[in-house]
Amino acid sequence: MGAQMLRGLVESGFTNIAFNAFYNVASDLQRDPFAVSDESWTQFLKEVFEEWISIDRPDVKVRELDNMIAWTRGRVARSCVFRGSCSSWMLVDHDGKIYPCERLGKSTCLGNVMLVTSFAEVVKALSHRAFTAQTLRMPEKCKSCPMQSFCHNGCVAHRIDDGDTSPHYAYCGSRLAFYDYLMKRVGVNADIPTASPSNILGE
Ligand code: SF4
Ligand code: SF4
Repeated sequence: MGAQMLRGLVESGFTNIAFNAFYNVASDLQRDPFAVSDESWTQFLKEVFEEWISIDRPDVKVRELDNMIAWTRGRVARSCVFRGSCSSWMLVDHDGKIYPCERLGKSTCLGNVMLVTSFAEVVKALSHRAFTAQTLRMPEKCKSCPMQSFCHNGCVAHRIDDGDTSPHYAYCGSRLAFYDYLMKRVGVNADIPTASPSNILGE
């Protein structure tokens, strides 16, 4: 499935590609029974990676691969879900209401553009500070994880109550498994200047 999707997108002319595991955020802190499983998501990412190598187009960027490979090379990932910058974003809905992200639902409303004088005012407000603190919370498992500086406990909208000290990223298992797979394929010490398919394999 991952290989077919990537190939189809590339053949259709897309070069900046990102994938999201389906996850029903309305299920809140419960594991969504209809969500893509950890195992399926890992398999999907492996297939995407192998297809990306096979296509061998340096201009084709896949967010999930680019960000992880960049991090293994000491660079800072760009995407919010890989750099712990959830609280740096805002969206304004059609009625002027301000939210941190469309994934988080209406309960996270931070104000209304009609009632504030600047976005700086929104950021200083108690509601935004409380939201920021919530995004930075780490369950015990994350505190000792070697991937913490990349993963940051995953997307804030995809955290569930699994009995740890605070909500935990629902695709933790997949993140660790795919990282392990990638390291075996790429090689930890390969001196690679950019994440390009033809030069990424450290074999
Ligand atoms: S909820 Fe997830 S996708 Fe949205 S800004 Fe936060 S980390 Fe990014
Ligand atoms: S991979 Fe798992 S344990 Fe590690 S930081 Fe991410 S969610 Fe936490």
